[in-house]
Amino acid sequence: MVAELGTTPPPQPSHEGRRSNCESQFLNPAIIGGGYAGMSAAVTLAAQGIPVTVFESAKQLGGRARGVLQNNTQLDNGQHILLGCYRQTLKLIEHVGGNIEQDFLRLPLQLTLHHCFELKAPNLPAPLHLLFALLSAKGLSLAERIKAARFMLTMRRIKFKLPYDLSALELLQAHHQSEDLIRLMWEPICISALNTPINKASAQILLNVLRDSLNGSFADSEMLLPRIDFSALFPDRAAEYLAKHNGKVLTSSGVEAIIPRENSVELVTTQGAYQFSHVICAASPAISARLISTIPALVTISNQIDAITYQPIYTVYLQYPAHIALPQAMLGFDRCFTQWIFDKGQIADQPGLIAAVISAEGRHQELDHDQLVKKVIQELREQLGIVEEPLWHQVIAEKRATFSCEVNLSRPANTTPIGNIVLAGDFTAGDYPATLEGAVMSGIKAAKEIISTI
Ligand SMILES: Cc1cc2nc3c(=O)[nH]c(=O)nc-3n(C[C@H](O)[C@H](O)[C@H](O)COP(=O)(O)OP(=O)(O)OC[C@H]3O[C@@H](n4cnc5c(N)ncnc54)[C@H](O)[C@@H]3O)c2cc1C
Repeated sequence: MVAELGTTPPPQPSHEGRRSNCESQFLNPAIIGGGYAGMSAAVTLAAQGIPVTVFESAKQLGGRARGVLQNNTQLDNGQHILLGCYRQTLKLIEHVGGNIEQDFLRLPLQLTLHHCFELKAPNLPAPLHLLFALLSAKGLSLAERIKAARFMLTMRRIKFKLPYDLSALELLQAHHQSEDLIRLMWEPICISALNTPINKASAQILLNVLRDSLNGSFADSEMLLPRIDFSALFPDRAAEYLAKHNGKVLTSSGVEAIIPRENSVELVTTQGAYQFSHVICAASPAISARLISTIPALVTISNQIDAITYQPIYTVYLQYPAHIALPQAMLGFDRCFTQWIFDKGQIADQPGLIAAVISAEGRHQELDHDQLVKKVIQELREQLGIVEEPLWHQVIAEKRATFSCEVNLSRPANTTPIGNIVLAGDFTAGDYPATLEGAVMSGIKAAKEIISTI
């Protein structure tokens, strides 16, 4: 239950230290959206003893990274991967009670395109692990491996900072990366990291990711595959943490309007209207744009968000008989519709369950779900000799999975011209593409804006 309009919404701040300097009133921030950004903001505020209220329109938490139950099997709305360099996400998961070693299957950086290409990082100090991985990559000529290593060394020299942004493809071609090298290595990395075709993707954002992952320590470049679903991994634990720290999470409670008032902000929700000292709007970009579009001082930001375009991610889950297993937990295909397949038996103890992932726009969007399933099954048969038919399948098409991370994309800051309305979400300005780490970092930043008023 939340308080009625005009009364001070519970929970009450626990002590005078939570009084805001600027407004001489208690801090009782509200957060719109219980995805990774919103819940990170909420935990950061709660950790400072600030009572928060999270409004989430869906029945469950997690947003674009949420658990989905299908055929009595726990799935996600899409297979996600974390990298070792996602420090803020991993730290917050631990802060709310997670255990990284138990929650994830940790794999050394390894990119394998079945029968075509293999890059594997050994456990050596940086940057030796990367140079060794590039120079020993299978499926490329020695000249191509040297070119790839040279490219990374050049980027290190310029500290992964370009004088101006251009497309990832233009950057790679300018550095003499061959067609095969781009197709087998850089394109799969770019699409996995930015979910944007390589000819459109921002080279600068790709370099930011390479800087923190491939160019970081061996641990930074590791890949972490979750053993539990994405609602359970962080948002549900964060909600429990909030319950113990004077906060509350209201699911099935969509916010319909944000109305700035003198020294407070009113939220009109599906359950009633309530007053808060601050609001962090951490809804998905299109909804954030709509919510702030009615506030004259925020129309420009709303238009900026509306100009963002999106990229899809399709995940095809195939439940095969339990004895079916892949040669490794994660495997890529070259020149196929299917880009990556994940063996959920090896990752999450779900034998026979395979997740096939197709990221970014492409010809797969011309197929309906049944045709797509048939295509993926056919590719698994041709590539790996899996002749059995799956017992059931499920396609999850996230049409607006991420923003299209294009050259010179203009993204809004967390702060707005209205001091007590702050934005959070993977789409806000930052070094990263639309990722969990980008979402978490934005949530922490938004919370710190509010904490700085104490
Ligand atoms: C299929 C798929 C695969 C992905 N793979 C990866 C990956 O491998 N690695 C990676 O790092 N990232 C990946 N991502 C991206 C990552 O999931 C997102 O960047 C991240 O989850 C975004 O979090 P967010 O909190 O910013 O936004 P969202 O998750 O969109 O959260 C917004 C929340 O606001 C709620 N909401 C909306 N409107 C209202 C309202 N009016 N009132 C109240 N609540 C509202 C929504 O229900 C939602 O819960 C993937 C995304 C998808 C879809």
